[in-house]
Amino acid sequence: INILAIETSCDETAAAIIQNGHTILSEVVATQIDSHKRFGGVVPEIASRHHVEQMTQVLEETLTKASLTMEEIDAVAVTEGPGLVGALLVGVATAKALAFSHQLPLIGVHHIAGHIYANQLVESFKFPLLCLVVSGGHTELILMKEHGKFEVIGETRDDACGEAYDKVARVLDVPYPGGPHVDKLAKLGNDTLNLPRIYLEEDSYDFSFSGLKSAVINTVHNAKQKGIALKKEDIACSFQESVVEVLVEKTYRASVEYGVKQVVVAGGVAANSRLREALRERFNDPEVTLSIPPLALCTDNASMIGAAAYNDYQKQAFRGLDLNANPGLDLEQYGKR
Ligand code: ATP
Ligand code: FE
Ligand code: MG
Repeated sequence: INILAIETSCDETAAAIIQNGHTILSEVVATQIDSHKRFGGVVPEIASRHHVEQMTQVLEETLTKASLTMEEIDAVAVTEGPGLVGALLVGVATAKALAFSHQLPLIGVHHIAGHIYANQLVESFKFPLLCLVVSGGHTELILMKEHGKFEVIGETRDDACGEAYDKVARVLDVPYPGGPHVDKLAKLGNDTLNLPRIYLEEDSYDFSFSGLKSAVINTVHNAKQKGIALKKEDIACSFQESVVEVLVEKTYRASVEYGVKQVVVAGGVAANSRLREALRERFNDPEVTLSIPPLALCTDNASMIGAAAYNDYQKQAFRGLDLNANPGLDLEQYGKR
């Protein structure tokens, strides 16, 4: 079964063809990072316009790379939400047009379900499964007892993890998106600033990053006033150590409490080198499989959407041409319909 998948929820125009939910036949990602860089973040209007401009070419390239024609495609899948509404609409309209003109079933996918299913492209799921989602807009611990069903057991109470990275990156004066730059700087520094580890209540799986972000800003400000020169590398490293320690510890505790067989990581921050290393160290139990997607599958792509869509294909859970972009789509609700 070949699924043609489209993802346009943010600043990446992406398409992919996924066979049987696990094999990537082709994948194209046209990033717009350069257009948004000078604004220090994604500008929604610019994102939508770029998607419109790129879409046809991205689709053609995806089919060409796989040496397939639309006649060999069995279904069309698209991210329906959450994300920027104008950006989502481009993907949804394209998917509907393709499904209609080629008489193909249409599948709507939740963007975060996609991030989670990026892991299925690497390793088959074993349930119960725990997923740590750490992306630009989400930070959640999600329990899955079967395919397509999601239970959020913890989430951020303020900023998302990637958002915190991007904000600290601004303090360090590195370009957008800041996560990868902070990661690189951190490798060259030491954990010298004694930043707080924000665990919240003893038994909570929730997260909070705004206090840590403020602590970074205050520490930098105070040092400046006292005329002390802090090394950017040490600031990055101290911030990263605090973030990673809490993420790994809460994920570990949850994996024990829920007796999971597999732990997966998803979202852009899953590309972080220190997080990957610390997770591998903590999860050395042969009873629990730890999966971390390759770097290219951590950030936004369409392969993950094609992987997630395969469940719906098997259940014949197809959508009508009234499918609409849903910028606030809820993950648990999406799993229940
Ligand atoms: P969401 O998936 O929640 O809708 P998004 O799609 O914008 O948000 P992703 O594309 O999944 O987010 O991830 C982008 C985020 O990942 C950015 O905040 C970026 O800074 C962060 N990121 C990417 N690489 C790294 C890294 N190596 N270390 C830390 N953060 C990183
Ligand atoms: Fe994303
Ligand atoms: Mg992105």
